[in-house]
Amino acid sequence: MRYYVLDRGDQLSLELAESFHKLAADQGLIRDADSPDIVVSIGGDGTMLHAFHSFMDRIASTAFVGVHTGHLGFYADWKADEIPELVQMMAGDPEDSHLKPRIVQYPLVDLEIVKQSGVLKHVCLNEFTLKSVDGTVVLQVDINDHMFEMFRGDGICVSTPSGSTAYNKSLGGAMIHPSIEAFQISEIASINNRVFRTMGSSLVLPNHHHCDIYSRKEQNLLLTVDHVNLRVSDLISVRCKVAEQKISFVRYRPFPFWTRVRNAFLD
Ligand code: NAP
Repeated sequence: MRYYVLDRGDQLSLELAESFHKLAADQGLIRDADSPDIVVSIGGDGTMLHAFHSFMDRIASTAFVGVHTGHLGFYADWKADEIPELVQMMAGDPEDSHLKPRIVQYPLVDLEIVKQSGVLKHVCLNEFTLKSVDGTVVLQVDINDHMFEMFRGDGICVSTPSGSTAYNKSLGGAMIHPSIEAFQISEIASINNRVFRTMGSSLVLPNHHHCDIYSRKEQNLLLTVDHVNLRVSDLISVRCKVAEQKISFVRYRPFPFWTRVRNAFLD
């Protein structure tokens, strides 16, 4: 079993990473930054976003597990004091039915960003947002190659099911169970009056649909993929769809989505 640890960089996460390495060495796990079987994220859900983007090119052969240094997160199901147990589980015989982990896969959103200066491809774990740097954005939204609406306002958020509990939730979007292969388009402060009109509701699209967002004026835009910000002044369009790849999480014990939702927002 080869593993890699990515930590948030704060004192506690660094100390936990060190203790993880010591325990892992005792159990015969191999530290490998290039081709790990499991990437362990120590920090928060934000740290998992970093881990995902660092290993995106190995997504088909890498599984992720998260250790949360605060409260339990959406991507981090182990607490700091449970690291010895986690290492033991990782070192256990995968054929032993008690230790055999379950691999849970979540959908991602695929982006094709077309600029006058070239095409960029990105994949998001949480969401992608398109916002103006200076003033109202004007964006045309097409669904499956048909004009749907002309959007004026602060911006648009396109989220994955697992990202639906993050920025999307703050925008009033629905929470979507990550077993559903879909993506969600939510508005960020749309202008709605007698002249300008948008749907106003979040839209949930299935995995055989796509959406194109066209920049409809000369505008400086801030395009954010999870935690990564890109400034774009020559955007033509962004095509969004459910990605062919999925992220895999390794589960050594149950971590039900609706329990996470309840714990995060109600308890
Ligand atoms: P951050 O601003 O430091 O943290 C944003 C918060 O979102 C953190 O509390 C983080 O949890 C939480 N979070 C991340 N993914 C989540 C998920 N899937 N479900 C529920 N909560 C989640 O930024 P960051 O740590 O770099 O994370 C980037 C994310 O921040 C973006 O992907 C976006 O979803 C979110 N964001 C939200 C808003 C908003 O709600 N108005 C605005 C901008 C960005 P941890 O503390 O466990 O890391």
